[in-house]
Amino acid sequence: MRLILVILLLAISIPACARHYWALQTASDICVWTPASAAQGAADRAQDILDEIRAYWIPGPLPSECTFSQTSPFAIFLAQPEAPLTTLAIYSDQETMARDLDRFDVWGLTMPTQLADGTWAPRSDLFQRLPDGASIDSQSILFLSCERRDTWERCAAHELVHALQLAQWDVDFDGWPRQLFRILQEGAARHTEYLLAGLDRFDLRTAGPVALWLAKGNDLATAPEFLLYEIGASLVNAILRRISPAHFWAIFSGPCRSGILHLALGIRPSFGSAVRAACGMSWDALVEAWRVQAAAMTPVDGSHHVYRWLQDAFSLRASLLEPLLSGDERDCGRMLGEAVYDGAAEDAWLDEVDASYRNAFAEPTPEVLEALHEREATLIDYARERAGAVQEVADVLRLGIVARRDGTSTDKYVHRFVEVVNAFIPLAVQQPIPERDP
Ligand SMILES: [Zn+2]
Repeated sequence: MRLILVILLLAISIPACARHYWALQTASDICVWTPASAAQGAADRAQDILDEIRAYWIPGPLPSECTFSQTSPFAIFLAQPEAPLTTLAIYSDQETMARDLDRFDVWGLTMPTQLADGTWAPRSDLFQRLPDGASIDSQSILFLSCERRDTWERCAAHELVHALQLAQWDVDFDGWPRQLFRILQEGAARHTEYLLAGLDRFDLRTAGPVALWLAKGNDLATAPEFLLYEIGASLVNAILRRISPAHFWAIFSGPCRSGILHLALGIRPSFGSAVRAACGMSWDALVEAWRVQAAAMTPVDGSHHVYRWLQDAFSLRASLLEPLLSGDERDCGRMLGEAVYDGAAEDAWLDEVDASYRNAFAEPTPEVLEALHEREATLIDYARERAGAVQEVADVLRLGIVARRDGTSTDKYVHRFVEVVNAFIPLAVQQPIPERDP
């Protein structure tokens, strides 16, 4: 169902003091917030991407058991207007988005707007940029940065799949490892990037690293976070060689693609039986068939560089250390990433960038100290919560408080921050995929 979006009551006059005023763009069932200059035509482009995603994944019209006549008691029960699918907050720079989200580990993020008590929510800074009267009235909110214009549409495609999953996936997953659900969610999103958003080199980016990982005797039960997307894409790719995208989607969405409808009708299928009905085999048999085939792949040249890039968390370390890197060092890291995914990197280049991260240092000005402070929540999440560096992180936080309070021990804070990032961030991403959602 397409909706004409008339949700945000927007004052025509722009307050003179609103330095961070964001513009609103709407399309048929999405809304976009963005700095006025950031992404012209973003809503229309995002809507086109969403339409392509729907056409690819989503089965045709709802079956008759999921629709009701106007006079049915079910129709009266369900008669709330359906909110638009999602609101996209598209940032013009990565740093502002990361600060709003208090997370330096994401390049896009989708979350439901109906948050349970105690769950995380974006900082109020975001809402202060919006015009008076703006409200979020959509099923989810989606964050991404268009700082790199060549990738925002790809990132949008990935996140829009998550927005549809949030709205429609309702399979009964009780008794199955939560990590498995995440692998399949991310796998479907990454598969979409390959198919509809111009991501290339499945052989180098996905198949090669997964084959290297399987060759070490690993299996899904111990899948590490650094390979979450690639294992997911490999697995989803294998499943889609057996069944259509629409059948794959139906495993997770059930027949009615709505939790409320399934609840009302009492027809929510379990994951195991849905897989068997769609694929004609058990989940375990499906996984085994994937494992044998994926492990038999000969990794293409450069696969071990992608593997190392991911395992040693080069991107996340660069994000955490960015305030301490020179322009040249940042450029080197970015170019290395491009070379890795072109299959053109060399060990020595990875060593060189790794060394620049280990030796990162900048004059600890108030701006640098503030930028590191912003990154501490991510450091806590990874180094303390996932890698167990309780004492080391406490040490960094204590030094940071002292450095910002009276300007002493600033060099020591910077050095300790760098040490903990390099010692524990790679260790954190090598841990099994966390159960919780990203
Ligand atoms: Zn994702």
